[in-house]
Amino acid sequence: RAWRAQVITLFPEAFPGTLGLSLTGKALKDGLWQLNTVPLRAFGEGKHRNVDDTPAGGGAGMVLRPDVMGAAIETARATQHAGAPLVYLSPRGRPFTQGMARDLATRPGITLICGRFEGLDQRVIDHFNIAEVSIGDYVLTGGEIAAQVMLDAIVRLLPGVLGNAESAEEESFSDGLLEHPQYTRPAEWQGRAIPPVLLSGNHGAVETWRRAESEKLTQERRPDLWQAHLGTED
Ligand code: SAM
Repeated sequence: RAWRAQVITLFPEAFPGTLGLSLTGKALKDGLWQLNTVPLRAFGEGKHRNVDDTPAGGGAGMVLRPDVMGAAIETARATQHAGAPLVYLSPRGRPFTQGMARDLATRPGITLICGRFEGLDQRVIDHFNIAEVSIGDYVLTGGEIAAQVMLDAIVRLLPGVLGNAESAEEESFSDGLLEHPQYTRPAEWQGRAIPPVLLSGNHGAVETWRRAESEKLTQERRPDLWQAHLGTED
């Protein structure tokens, strides 16, 4: 039973986007995961298939109607695996992390709601008890790119998607730290040499160097992660 992504969106043509390329695209073709879009427009009202209306209380912009979104959610749900979480991409949501990606990869799938305009009517969020997730502290025009960010991070963690050659085990965040710098041939470029320890063939020394670099980078760039890392050490 393949991990299943359902995406409710006004712009189904935005999918699979870059998810159709490289590792995630190959995995999609190989059936390691499935991607279904639910076109919100199809649930719109009247001849013009209206999906939005003006905000109650006034103000700028438009709000997605709860009846229209509700019908789309019911349809998405009918073709989703039981136990797949329902998530609304929203700048007000809980910040997306590698830990959340790891957890979501163990579920049967996910149903993602892409907002547009000023977002969803609050009643639809309350009625379906929808979890809100943000990909960062900035405002995008719509949820489609955010949905693709989440799906990319989750899908690469599904069993069989990454080969051994691209293991996720030593990446940034896997142990709460940022990854060490990487080098490849040529051995010297623009007068810059690869750190000699990496060419020494001494695996223990390489590991020690990588760990030290990883800790140094995390301390310098992400004091928040560094403090959390210190807290998890015994
Ligand atoms: N009025 C909303 C607010 O101030 O919180 C912003 C709406 S935004 C213009 C339109 C849609 O883009 C949102 O409904 C959401 O689906 C998506 N979006 C924008 N920024 C996002 C972010 N940082 N993370 C996830 N989704 C985002």
